[in-house]
Amino acid sequence: MSSKKIVVIPGDGIGPEITAAAREPLVLAARKAGLDLQFTTCLAGGAAIDARGVPLPDDTLAAAQAADAVLLGAVGGPKWDGVAPDLRPEKAILGLRKALGLYANLRPVKVSESLAAYSPLKPEIVAGTDILIVRELTGGIYFGPKCESKTVEGVERAWDTEIYSAPEITRIVKMACQAAKGRRGKVTSVDKANVLASSRLWRRVAAAVAKEEGVEIGNMYVDNCAMQLVLGPKTFDVIVTSNLFGDILSDEAAVVAGSIGLLPSASIGDGPGLYEPIHGSAPDIAGQGIANPIGTILSAAMLLRHSLKAEAPAAAIEAAVDAVLAAGYRTADLYRPGLTKVSTNKMAELIIKQL
Ligand code: NAD
Repeated sequence: MSSKKIVVIPGDGIGPEITAAAREPLVLAARKAGLDLQFTTCLAGGAAIDARGVPLPDDTLAAAQAADAVLLGAVGGPKWDGVAPDLRPEKAILGLRKALGLYANLRPVKVSESLAAYSPLKPEIVAGTDILIVRELTGGIYFGPKCESKTVEGVERAWDTEIYSAPEITRIVKMACQAAKGRRGKVTSVDKANVLASSRLWRRVAAAVAKEEGVEIGNMYVDNCAMQLVLGPKTFDVIVTSNLFGDILSDEAAVVAGSIGLLPSASIGDGPGLYEPIHGSAPDIAGQGIANPIGTILSAAMLLRHSLKAEAPAAAIEAAVDAVLAAGYRTADLYRPGLTKVSTNKMAELIIKQL
């Protein structure tokens, strides 16, 4: 058996419940692939502020850097809303992203027949949707030169700057192409090349990378993509885009799926990856044992696929989740009459039984 180091950061709110529920399915699936997982639990977010006075203690950072992968619940909550901006719980996630060099954010959005009814879109439009959004995470306008306020000729102005380098574009498009090869082989690169110079470089570099990778690539303007995600989400396979466009489009795509409790995410760089559900710490339901653990369990599947290169156990977890949902089991957030309501732990048990 080969041994892998996993750091678990439960965080705040429902974080401890959902990361606990994800642990056994992860261990079981990994063991079947000959992987022995060694876990270390670390503090971050509000829990770390309470215990250590900072959102990201040095020992958490060191453990994450030395790990093969990090599984995170969620951070934040009303208790820490009043703390100084530099000490806010979400600084922990930004700090981890920076320290681990996580330049790519992967967000799959999958809508099976049994979940199509939860979407705000018509079931026939949304059922069968299976998109992977690959968002550039460390460049672009969020990190470019900015000015908060400057008065020029008596008029107050502010600005942000979108800058992308060819190597930044190359590595993210390459990652999207490689992901597409394990899927339906189609990449859509999203930009605003009719207006932005940075988008024109993006488009040129993306075409060259796709050619080298032998992957079919299409280009789409971001405004059109926003419409097409609602009109025909099934037409997309992999979408690759900049930090700003990806931020907006990935949230739009999440709404198409209908339940934030089900969606996982991965942030990847050259070292350990960070895996977490897309939702927050849900303080309104924390400690009640009713949170949906599926987003975290599917994040654990992504951890196996991307950081441990264990495709079979990742797919096994995803199939187990599909089977449990198809059998009509739901946590409170997705419960409807005629289905079977289960707790966080019961949902995890059912998935483990399927595995
Ligand atoms: P949220 O995602 O925590 O909750 C929004 C709604 O969805 C709530 O009604 C909640 O009960 C429900 N919900 C979320 N996840 C669920 C799950 N797994 N099962 C069942 N229901 C679920 O968003 P929010 O209320 O805007 O934020 C709450 C806190 O989380 C804030 O402090 C925010 O800053 C933080 N937050 C953290 C992250 C992160 O850690 N990555 C992301 C978003 C928000």
